[in-house]
Amino acid sequence: MQPHLLSVDELSRDDIERILGRAESFAEVSGREIKKVPTLRGRTVINLFYEASTRTQSSFELAAKRLSADLITLKAAGSAVDKGESLKDTVQTLSAYDPAAIIIRSPHAGAAGLVARWTSAAVINAGDGKHEHPTQALLDLYTLKRRAGSLEGLKVWIVGDVLHSRVARSNILAFTRMGCEVTVCGPPTLIPRGIESLGCGIRYTLDELGSADVVYALRMQRERMTGAFVPSLREYAARYQIDGRRLGPGQLLMHPGPVNRGVELAAEVIDSPQALIAEQVESGVVVRMAVLYELLAGRGAPDAARAGADTEPQPA
Ligand code: ASP
Repeated sequence: MQPHLLSVDELSRDDIERILGRAESFAEVSGREIKKVPTLRGRTVINLFYEASTRTQSSFELAAKRLSADLITLKAAGSAVDKGESLKDTVQTLSAYDPAAIIIRSPHAGAAGLVARWTSAAVINAGDGKHEHPTQALLDLYTLKRRAGSLEGLKVWIVGDVLHSRVARSNILAFTRMGCEVTVCGPPTLIPRGIESLGCGIRYTLDELGSADVVYALRMQRERMTGAFVPSLREYAARYQIDGRRLGPGQLLMHPGPVNRGVELAAEVIDSPQALIAEQVESGVVVRMAVLYELLAGRGAPDAARAGADTEPQPA
């Protein structure tokens, strides 16, 4: 595994299994009254968020804190980025603090890869434009494995705005790597040309949705749309919304959040026991702890930085 986490493509099946296993051991820590281990004590983690986030930012913060790291969170608004400082200058400035990791969320595809060139810290891609969101994919695998028992052979339908979705790209790679059969579905205008090269099938209607074990709905990413991709949200919902009629009783439902209620999902399915949405959020903390551990103290870490690698987490 590379010293950074920029894309799911860099992860082998073994890497993924190891991260999911590590996350499970951290789930035990999350059940304790004092949810902290000393693994990253004295090391600095920087959360650099150039785009809106609730779940990813808060769970990375909690993950770093539970590993006892010193944490700085910077958002574009309120930082010198507001004054016109470039990403490169910001990263070089922050590198003066000798961070062990920089977690970056950016509206620009490829931003995390650039940051990795400008710093000696481990860089974690927390979502770069339409490109990738690898920790989302890992927490989705972890959540689904916990509920379904095994991932092998599961049929996963990813439904909605695939074109603008970094989650779709990371999840197609992650689910297929773990032996799932992935189909993407949405209006032709929202399915990128050539997406099947990632190893998924394509459907333009929900007619065969019944064959899926898991329905993974995506948000309509209006902030990334430059034109009209669907005639109207109402028409989109009529054809692609997952509601109580379309979701079969044995199917599981996932969504990366934030959900647009009444657009991609109807209220009755969001609140149903088939929905894993709250569990996905919960998994975010332990999976991100596992990723930080892997890069800073585990097998992905440079030898000198490995502290207690492959040992079970001890209380702080
Ligand atoms: N939260 C996810 C992301 O940042 C999905 C979304 O925004 O729809 O990509």
